[in-house]
Amino acid sequence: MTKSKPNIVILSGAGISAESGLGTFRDKGGLWDEHDINDVATPEAWQKNPTLVLDFYNQRRQSVIDAKPNSAHFSLVDLEKKFNVSIVTQNIDDLHERAGSSSVMHLHGEIRKAQCSIDEFEVIEIEGGGLEMGEMSSSGHQLRPHVVWFGEAVPKMNEAEALVAEADLFIVVGTSLNVYPAANLIYSCKKLCKKYIVDINELTNAKFKNLVHLKGKASEKMPELVKSIIKEYS
Ligand code: NAD
Repeated sequence: MTKSKPNIVILSGAGISAESGLGTFRDKGGLWDEHDINDVATPEAWQKNPTLVLDFYNQRRQSVIDAKPNSAHFSLVDLEKKFNVSIVTQNIDDLHERAGSSSVMHLHGEIRKAQCSIDEFEVIEIEGGGLEMGEMSSSGHQLRPHVVWFGEAVPKMNEAEALVAEADLFIVVGTSLNVYPAANLIYSCKKLCKKYIVDINELTNAKFKNLVHLKGKASEKMPELVKSIIKEYS
């Protein structure tokens, strides 16, 4: 007898894109070793030195444009061919979409988009790599990167919690679970939801029942996990 098909929700973080060449934030040698969060990723930084903030994100955007999805991103496309799969990502890159995943919610925004600096709901695609001072929204205000900065609310949090609450399998991949409120999503799982965490490092702050830690590179562990889920539930 085959098991009923699970509803699968993924929470991805910077670690899934690390092997695509995009630096994580908190690992040794990560972005926050080179840049002070307060200088580039807060509303106060934007008030103080918007040019520096735009430069920082222009560099990040160019790296994203140059990067390619890796086997961890592609494995999730294989998974959605068999099951209902929703991805909630903390990443601002578009590697899940470029791999071919069709249901991707960006909790912290999307680096290839810009938003009006006084109306977060006016969002446009950025043509090319750069966003400069003097580029205005349709209401005549400076455009800023469409990313959620430290100290700002996460507008899609309720929507993400509702998705996670419906999961039968919850897969966390490449996130240190240090950035809140996203890290709280694991608490939205129902009691019997099976949880997997794919991470190259030891877990420091995730002690849950029904949790399996697959320690290793996302590019190796994700395809293995996807294969085993497909085998178990098909
Ligand atoms: P983080 O840097 O705090 O944690 C990354 C996690 O990934 C760590 O636990 C690390 O052990 C793990 N990891 C590193 N390389 C890995 C690999 N090859 N395989 C498996 N696991 C690996 O990142 P976070 O938890 O996502 O939170 C930081 C915030 O930084 C997020 O809000 C995100 O928006 C942002 N961010 C995004 C990008 C991106 O869009 N690619 C890049 C850097 C940071």
